[in-house]
Amino acid sequence: MADSIFTRIINRELPSEILYEDEHCIAIKDIAPKAPVHLLIIPRKPIPKLCDASGEDLALLGHLLLAASTVARQVGVEDAFRVIVNNGAGAGQTVFHLHLHLLAGKQFSESQLGF
Ligand code: 5GP
Repeated sequence: MADSIFTRIINRELPSEILYEDEHCIAIKDIAPKAPVHLLIIPRKPIPKLCDASGEDLALLGHLLLAASTVARQVGVEDAFRVIVNNGAGAGQTVFHLHLHLLAGKQFSESQLGF
């Protein structure tokens, strides 16, 4: 299968603004931000979607959430941010390489779960 856009960004084959990276993931700015702060936390492992993760990914999934917290602190939004995962085209997923959306910098209403 062809490499995803995100694998190509991770491999520096495509340009992107990388804010954070470690041995398991990177965090980049979304190219089409839906909020003043809109970052993507992306595992190096190309899991297509959340439902494709298995028990062997347990630590990685936890790591992604901790990385989201680290990046939120790094950009100064640790007091108010939202993390979203779209699983499947029906939920709005367009890039089939697992990623967390980190959104901040605007008021989110309780009833508004999307972005
Ligand atoms: P999804 O819809 O799969 O949950 O989210 C994919 C996200 O990736 C979208 O918010 C989209 O704007 C972003 N995106 C797509 N292509 C690129 C790209 O080449 N660079 C960056 N930085 N973001 C991208």
